[in-house]
Amino acid sequence: MRENIIMACTECQHRNYCMSKNKKKHPDRFETKKYCPFCHRHTVHRQTK
Ligand SMILES: [Zn+2]
Repeated sequence: MRENIIMACTECQHRNYCMSKNKKKHPDRFETKKYCPFCHRHTVHRQTK
């Protein structure tokens, strides 16, 4: 039950991270704070569809 997803910065929209998500733990759209190399700081990254 793991799904590969792409995480995109919500501020610059760059897709910075790939990760696998546990669908049972996170059935909805997943958000996490990560470092964005384009914004040069930590921003919220959101799962892309
Ligand atoms: Zn960014």
